[in-house]
Amino acid sequence: MSPAGGCGKFRAYWTNMREGPENTLGLDVGGTKIRAARISADGRIHARVIERVTPDRDGFLAQVLRLINDLRDAGTTAIGIGIPGRIEAGTQRILSAGYLDIAGMDLRAQVEAQAGLPVTVANDATMALIAEAAIGHDEKSGLILMVTIGTGIGGAAVMDGRPWQGGGIAGQFGHIVVTPDGPECNCGRRGCVETQSSGTALGRLIVGEDLPADTQAGDLLARAANGEAVPAAILADWAEPMRRALETLVAVADPKLIVIGGGLGAEMAAALARLPKGNSWFGLPIAAAQLGDDAGVIGAGLAVMPAREDHAGVS
Ligand SMILES: [Zn+2]
Repeated sequence: MSPAGGCGKFRAYWTNMREGPENTLGLDVGGTKIRAARISADGRIHARVIERVTPDRDGFLAQVLRLINDLRDAGTTAIGIGIPGRIEAGTQRILSAGYLDIAGMDLRAQVEAQAGLPVTVANDATMALIAEAAIGHDEKSGLILMVTIGTGIGGAAVMDGRPWQGGGIAGQFGHIVVTPDGPECNCGRRGCVETQSSGTALGRLIVGEDLPADTQAGDLLARAANGEAVPAAILADWAEPMRRALETLVAVADPKLIVIGGGLGAEMAAALARLPKGNSWFGLPIAAAQLGDDAGVIGAGLAVMPAREDHAGVS
């Protein structure tokens, strides 16, 4: 008789059983890649797939359903999907999604019908912020904002862990006007911060200064740290409009924290830190995002986690 051995087996069995029941799937759809993961209640990734996203709508739906089937297990209770675009409040219908041909899709209804699980669709920055606010930073309650710096500039807001989306498009922080006579923006106005502090805008600044077109933000930071004037000036021109936008956010909403994320989030945070101290009223409670590329899938999973639904759910 070996009580210890038996007990060990018993414990392993129950550990597996406990890991099985409570999990959700998070999907993070990007302009070029789609990430999917099985997420435990504490936000850990237990399985993950990354693929090129299929941009046409029939192929896209088939891809989403295949990833869900590959990752779900007996304990999967719900599916969260982050989309790089605008989502209609209430219906969660996709209004726009950048380069993907999925505008107008009722992805929630289609996936629910096929997968037989509850589905929530929300903006990808909202999903990323749910994860950053839950496990990335000390500040977890109150108003937390996120600004994402990539090809364009996106954003999101959570209040006490719960997304704050207004009628569906609150958090479009890329469209804070910082230069009224600045360049035309996709939104129909001029001088939005997206036209001056996005990755696209940085590329324009680099080419305008006769630097090699493949110069990266990290190269500029390294060269500026070595005292080179031109890279330092480019970084200042890139970050200064963003500082004005962030000061406006503080003036409007006085958040506990503004997370700077997206593909160029760390570089923008570093460029902002290089700016000389301004003399405005507004201190900036900013921090670089901590979860990297995983934030989107973790947040999409946490957003639909039954145990968290009362405070993290997207409705
Ligand atoms: Zn705009």
